[in-house]
This record gives sequence, C-alpha cells and structure tokens, in this order.
Amino acid sequence: MSQPETSLMNRIVSLSKRRGFVYPASEIYGGLNGFWDFGPLGVQLKNNLRDAWWRSMVECPPIGPDGKPLSILGIDTSIIQHPKTWEASGHIGGFSDPMQTCRQCKKLFRADHVEDMLRDAEWVVSFADAMKVAAAETLKLGAFLQDSVTFDGAAAQNWAQRKGKRLAPGLALVRNSTVTLSWLDEDMRNNPSGKLSFMDLLNYMATEQKAKTGLQTPCPNCGGDLTEPRQFNLMFESRVGAVEADDDSGKVYLRPETAQGIFLQYKNVLDTSRVRPPFGIAQVGKSFRNEVTPRNFIFRTREFEQMEMEFFVPPEDGMKWYEFWVAERLRWWEEQGVSKETLFRHEIPDADRSFYSSATSDIEYRYPFTAPGFGELEGVAYRTDYDLKQHQTFSKTNLEYIDQENSRRYLPHVIEPASGLTRGVLVLLCEAYQYDESRASPEWLKLKPSLAPIKAGIFPLVNKDGMPEVAEKLYLDLRRTHTCQYDAKQSIGKRYARMDEAGTPFCITIDGDTLKDQNVTIRNRDTAQQERVALDQVKNYLATKLA
Ligand code: ATP
Repeated sequence: MSQPETSLMNRIVSLSKRRGFVYPASEIYGGLNGFWDFGPLGVQLKNNLRDAWWRSMVECPPIGPDGKPLSILGIDTSIIQHPKTWEASGHIGGFSDPMQTCRQCKKLFRADHVEDMLRDAEWVVSFADAMKVAAAETLKLGAFLQDSVTFDGAAAQNWAQRKGKRLAPGLALVRNSTVTLSWLDEDMRNNPSGKLSFMDLLNYMATEQKAKTGLQTPCPNCGGDLTEPRQFNLMFESRVGAVEADDDSGKVYLRPETAQGIFLQYKNVLDTSRVRPPFGIAQVGKSFRNEVTPRNFIFRTREFEQMEMEFFVPPEDGMKWYEFWVAERLRWWEEQGVSKETLFRHEIPDADRSFYSSATSDIEYRYPFTAPGFGELEGVAYRTDYDLKQHQTFSKTNLEYIDQENSRRYLPHVIEPASGLTRGVLVLLCEAYQYDESRASPEWLKLKPSLAPIKAGIFPLVNKDGMPEVAEKLYLDLRRTHTCQYDAKQSIGKRYARMDEAGTPFCITIDGDTLKDQNVTIRNRDTAQQERVALDQVKNYLATKLA
C-alpha cells in the first residue's frame, strides 16, 4: 500500500485538527508553545480514557494476588497547595531539569534531550550524509550517533562551505573550519584505529578551542556550542491574595504532579474510610510543568492531565506489589487496544532512578517520533515511605498507620502507577491511525469501540420517503445510552468516510426496505462489512458490541 509523503506524525496532527480532536491553543493569536486544546471529539476520547481508568482503578479495581478485590478510593485535590508541600516533596530546589543553552543561537535545551534532538536535526542528517554515514538507513535504527565512522576532512570542509552555512551556522566547523579540523587531525594521529563514533565526530566539529574548553556538544538547532547543564525550575508560580506583595509571602505553585495532593490527604482518607493497607488512593487532574522543550504534539506539554494512584502497603510487601502493578498496568494498556508489540517495559537502572525509589519501571510506547525506539507513557515507581516521611517531618503531623491487629505502627510504603491522560490520548490516536487507499476515507481511526468518541452514526439513506422519521426515532432512543450522531447530509459514502475518520465503530442506515421489513443495515468500521439487523434489536446489538 503506498503511503503519502507526509510523515506519519504530521498526518496524525493534521487529522486531529481537521476532525476536531486537538487544536493548537490560542491559535487566533498565533498559538502558545506547549499548550493544546481538545476539540469536541478529543474531549470525548479523553473523557472515555479517563473513565476507563477510573472504572478499573476506583469503581472496579483489580483482584489482588491473594484473590481478593483491592480497595482503591478516589479523591480530587486542589491544584494549588500549601507551598511547604513542594519543599517537602523535593520539588522546590529539586524539581528542575538540567538545562543547556546554546552560546550562538541562545536556545534552551533539556540536557537529557540533546542526543535525541541531534538524531533528528536536519543539519546532523545532512552532515552524516556527507560523511557517508548511511544516515537515512541508520536514522531508522536510531543509533547512528554511536556508529563508528571514518573521517574525511576534505568532505567535511566541502560540506561546511556549502550546506553547513545554511543548516548549521553556529557549528565551529562552519565558522572556523581550518582551526576546528586541525584539532581532529592531531587527535586522529594518536588514534591507531582511525575510527571514532559519529557523536564524537560531532563534538569535534563543534569545538573551536579544544585546549581551552574541552570537546563541545553541538546545539541541535544551529550547531553552536552548549553551556554546561544548569538547573532550571519547572514549576509555574502564582500568588494568592489580592495584593501583589513584593516579598514571597503569597507565593504559590501550580502542582507539577497530582500525587502530592494524595499524600497530603492520605491520613484523612484512612481515618474516614474503612480501609487498611494494602489500599490505594487515585486521582485524575491537571498538572503544570514549565517544560523547556515542549514538543511532539501533546506528548510533552506545559499543561497536561495525569492519572495517578498511590498504593499504600506494609513495608515488607513493597516489592511484591511493585511487580503486581507493573504487570497490571501493562495489561490495562493492552486492554485499551494498544498492541503488545508497541509497548515496552523499561526497568530503570539503579543509577538513573530517583534516590528514594527502590525500583521503577517505565511503560513505554513506540511513538512515530521515537520509532523504532520507545518513549514513556507511564511510570510505575516503588517510592518506599519517602513522601509520607517527608510530609510527616515538614508538617510535624504523625502519619503512621496504627495496625491494632498486629500491635505495631508504621509508615506505609508506596507503589505509584503514574500515567499521562493527555499523553494516553496521543497513544490511542497513534495506535488507531490507519491508512488504506481503497477506502472512502483513506485515513481512519481503529479505536477500541468503547473508547470511540461517537459509538454510532445514524443515517436515513435519503432524506425523504419516511426514512428520516424512523432514523430520528432510533437516534432519540439510542442517544440515551450511547453517544450517537445523526447525519443526513451528502452521499452515504461520504457519511461513512466522516465516521471512519472520527473512529466511529458502527454506522446504522435506514433505507427503503426498513419501512417494509423493519430491518436496518449496520456497517462495521473495521471490516466495512454490512449486516441486516432488526430495528428493535439495534440497542442490544450495540450493547453487546460495546461491552
Ligand atoms: P519526563 O522524564 O518525560 O519529563 P517524568 O518521568 O518526569 O517525564 P512523571 O513525573 O513520572 O514523568 O509523570 C508521570 C506521567 O505523566 C508520564 O509518564 C507522562 O505520561 C505524563 N507527563 C509528564 N510530563 C508530561 C508533560 N510535560 N506533558 C504530557 N504528559 C506528561
């Protein structure tokens, strides 16, 4: 099947906009970087994903390893909390990503994103071509920064004078090729293999004064050299109270995660509900991070939604529950229609984990922009008793659980499955996107029926001969239980196409025969097959198919 020229990700973004899933925020004012709005279909899809999560966490939680259903309670806490919350949690002072600035173009980058961005940078791919690194091929492997290359000084100089001037004006090789190349020549004489990794080569090409500065990392944007990583606080600040105080007394923060609200209310929930560890508290809501490099559509935004659950357990059971939740969360994403092959459990190595966590796994998804690699969708962290201990210390409130049965008191340990709701919507869109030129709408969304924004389209074949009346009656009946859309405009093929693009699993057509035999035609989105179903059985049909 021939695919269009435009990249898969661009097609998903443009379908999302065209069909009202996601729009750029403040678009009429030129947009605002890192902010997106959900349109009519998008908000429905997001709510459906949220509801599926809430249902499987709070209303009908999984069965635990001992065969008993788990207790998980819902909560909804404030976006703005006492500022001490963020001191205790380590977000003030700690919640900052190491950042690097380009000395030439002044752009800011998150230090841990630079390599990824270099891999995709136009100038790097062009330079790799000139160096005969099979860039197009190796890019797909996602590994060419580590590939070893043989260096060709003349080709590099030639590239610098032609393409480099336009694509990477900040690169030392472009600004001052003679000096830059001389460092490398000298070093290569001492390198018997004559080979170096492509990343090392890029570092050499970004270095003008090696003796003074050491090797430099090039800027993904212009090739310029980057400063050392520096800390940068990601929390948005605001003020409470009517007066703008010039001291910090009214300073507050928009929460950067929903989890801390749960820890602050853990004791109240424990005291007012008849639960004891192991039990969980779940929350869905907005979080805000002043991300330095918001990118990849709604993957990394500055305002987003999270679905988080803190599961409180006796300390000795921590690892058991950690394994349980990693497996359970992977299973859940598969249940939402995400295929096994596109999901990946990434066990975070000891050195990369937060200091308080004794085990963390990221559940990753193969996004079009990370493929063949994976990017985070959800993190499952064993956070020990770190958060409760911190809040106990900072608030001077005893947060211990009193276990009367075993006459002991302890701070429970916590397992946290923390997922992005808006990022989850992106995963659903990427996973559902299909392209098939033989269909009325080549682009269509194969969403899990129960998550689809519209469950059924209801069409009178023609807008006369008694068909609209029957169709409207069916619509008024079905919409009480399912989100339906009535559509009488244009040809039936165009109406199918519109529904396919929205991911609607069923289209129900009332035709001339319906008036005679009381049957309707139901078209299945995935197979494009049609079947005749009795008018009075349509409701049951949908209920069975959407269960
Ligand atoms: P990253 O390392 O990508 O910044 P993180 O590990 O800090 O993410 P967590 O704090 O574990 O992320 O947040 C839990 C989940 O919230 C993530 O797995 C992701 O789905 C979502 N999330 C975090 N930051 C953002 C963001 N800026 N935009 C959209 N979703 C986000």
